[in-house]
Amino acid sequence: MVDVVVAKFGGSSLADKDQFIKVKDIIESDKNRRYIIPSAPGKRHSRDHKITDLLYMCHQLATHGLNFDEVYNVVEERYTGICKGLNLNLNIEDNLREIKEEIKGGASRDYCGSRGEYLNGLMLSSYLGFEFIDPKNLILFNDRGQLEEEKTEMLIGEKLKDVKYAVIPGFYGAKENGDIVTFSRGGSDVTGSIIANGVKARLYENWTDVSGFLMADPRIVENPKPIEVITYKELRELSYMGAPVLHEESIFPVKKHGIPINIKNTNMPGDMGTMIVDDQSYVSTGSITGIAGKKDFTVITIEKTLRNEEKGFLRKVISVFETNNIDIEHIPSGIDSISVIVSNTRMNGKFEKIKEELRIYCNPDTITYDANMALIAVVGRGMIRTQGISAKVFTAMKEAGVNIRMITQGSSELNIIIGIENEDFDTAIESVYKAFEND
Ligand code: ASP
Repeated sequence: MVDVVVAKFGGSSLADKDQFIKVKDIIESDKNRRYIIPSAPGKRHSRDHKITDLLYMCHQLATHGLNFDEVYNVVEERYTGICKGLNLNLNIEDNLREIKEEIKGGASRDYCGSRGEYLNGLMLSSYLGFEFIDPKNLILFNDRGQLEEEKTEMLIGEKLKDVKYAVIPGFYGAKENGDIVTFSRGGSDVTGSIIANGVKARLYENWTDVSGFLMADPRIVENPKPIEVITYKELRELSYMGAPVLHEESIFPVKKHGIPINIKNTNMPGDMGTMIVDDQSYVSTGSITGIAGKKDFTVITIEKTLRNEEKGFLRKVISVFETNNIDIEHIPSGIDSISVIVSNTRMNGKFEKIKEELRIYCNPDTITYDANMALIAVVGRGMIRTQGISAKVFTAMKEAGVNIRMITQGSSELNIIIGIENEDFDTAIESVYKAFEND
């Protein structure tokens, strides 16, 4: 591991000239920040537009043969405004003109979407005096649009070996034939992680507009405490259950070499932020790390006497959901019954069909259905070795008058999942947070 820091800056961190100035100060305050990954300019205020959204809109209009000048003007103004504001010695107008011609000429959706990062990268490299490296020569995708992990790792190692300081736009790479491919939305986080892994960085910094993760959703709990340290696995559990900030897939590349990710706030660089660390290097605090949850799940309960003795029963149930393309979240079970929990959006009006198929394949005694469940995940690596955590969770809920419908504990003993009525969602999260707030 070398003393190199890869720093990714999100859209709001590079939304205008003033944000660029903050970013430069941050980068120059630590000479180990050597590889910088920018997103496209994001929103400057809540009613503003993200450049990526505008570029996709241009592509959409162009594919229908419609004029997209008005939308593209907004894109142009944003870039030329930043260039002028920073006095950059860069003819961004030429690049903008070229891209417009490409869009008119039928450029692909991925190409159009990626230009937000490309142009921002050009500006940032000129502003910092860092080399510009186009990720189309570093991040490689196969013909099916999947990342070629090993080849990419090799390319990064080779090409960055002798480059001391560089700006590498986020969000995209290319196929061997040069066609641009983007990650899913928010994918610059993934680029940062891939570069950090490729250069075996000591640290991957992810600069955004919040000071890291919070123990609970601030729309539900007033002033929740920040999470200082969290493991990769804990983060997966929390983000899966609805705590956003980082692209889900950005954990995997850095995980290979246990490189930590530090979520930092561009507007408050002095805040510690959240450190996401390797699962082994975490010291348990003997408490919980965070609480997250989602509403609107359906529980389908299938009862059949002696179902535990019937071979293949579970397989048949699961295959009904599989053939209907419905992902299963949890399967709590009893001796004579099992419940299948799926999200309402996945279920999407298919209940009658599912019921019919279950009846044919599984011949159950009864099938019942309830589409009003919320799930809450209480996550903490310390749980496995600490007595009394679940007692505290359930006592808090009881005292708040929340009726618990289901409990499952993840097999890694990292979380407890609790099913409650949708209406109790906020009360449940608040009561659990309060119980652990001062641990
Ligand atoms: N600009 C892209 C998006 O808006 C990627 C990113 O910001 O990470 O999704």
